[in-house]
Amino acid sequence: MKAAVLYEANTPLVVEELNLSSPKAGEVKVRMAAAGVCASDHHWMTGDAHGPMPIVLGHEGAAVVEEVGQGVTRVKPGDRCILSFVSSCGYCRLCRTGSPQLCDTAGITGPTLFDGTTRLSKGKTPVYQMAKVGIFSEMGVVPEQACHKMPDSVPFEVAALIGCSVTTGVGAVINNPASRPGSTVAVFGCGGVGLNVIQGAKIMGASRIIAVDIYNHKLEFTYKFGATDVINSKEVDAVQEIKNLTGGGVDLAFDSFGSAITTSASVNSLRKNGTAVLVGLAPVGAEVPINMVELVRSQKTLIGSYYGSASSHETFDKLIDWYLKGKLSIDELITRRYALDAINEGFDALSRGEDGRGVIIF
Ligand SMILES: [Zn+2]
Ligand SMILES: [Zn+2]
Repeated sequence: MKAAVLYEANTPLVVEELNLSSPKAGEVKVRMAAAGVCASDHHWMTGDAHGPMPIVLGHEGAAVVEEVGQGVTRVKPGDRCILSFVSSCGYCRLCRTGSPQLCDTAGITGPTLFDGTTRLSKGKTPVYQMAKVGIFSEMGVVPEQACHKMPDSVPFEVAALIGCSVTTGVGAVINNPASRPGSTVAVFGCGGVGLNVIQGAKIMGASRIIAVDIYNHKLEFTYKFGATDVINSKEVDAVQEIKNLTGGGVDLAFDSFGSAITTSASVNSLRKNGTAVLVGLAPVGAEVPINMVELVRSQKTLIGSYYGSASSHETFDKLIDWYLKGKLSIDELITRRYALDAINEGFDALSRGEDGRGVIIF
């Protein structure tokens, strides 16, 4: 079976044959159906995120169950699943205190299965699986906990996007205790996650949703998802413009890009008592200067949000329900489709800032 393998940062993915061994206890063999092309994969390709290699990237996807290992009860062959990129152990402190998306065990074992080994190999060399799933592969073996059974009425490419960008973006809004109907919202960065923050803000009942990006074609696209105003931060001072539009600042600002510039602009665009939410992943080691006096005197909050701030499985169910009721636009996010062989074209388009989401169809 074929997979796209990263051997070294700043080299293209190599699409080649790999071996796949059988699922062990608690594991599931899946046939991939669709995979999103996400900036978090791209961070590995550019060296902004590090880890063991060779690795099969891909963490946003949907699949069909082929075979189950010993003791697997949640899914059976033929089930259609969204794959979660955090397989929560169920026993660590984070899992037990209601934050399975932050599972310590999943973090420690990283791009291997829970027993510290992988089921992918090239000859005798083990090949790692990003986030235990490694979706840029025709087939894979994943933990049972990664599989979220979904109704037949949800298309695979839609399900794939629910696996990362929709959950990350919409979840960052709807699972945030500071989110209230009538809030004013600014969203920095209008890629796959940013568009979903925008539609999350619309569902939450925001009175105003201001989209900020450096590309006009991306800004134009945000209106379809609920943006009420757009700002090109290359042309004007976005913070000043947000203050002008809202009479002093927004209640909520989301940095869906993840950089010192966009995070500090998010905090600076808040009104008093406002909350800035950092959603996008910055390069490893990035830091941001914050105006400390202003944070205190204006009683602002800066928080991070990972994978929708809540259990991914719980968020998936809500999003599936809203999608099937026509409240969430997911088909509209998909702008390009690629075969696995053309995966590098998908990442080229992502790095050029093309709008919407590219999806690999298997
Ligand atoms: Zn992602
Ligand atoms: Zn855990």
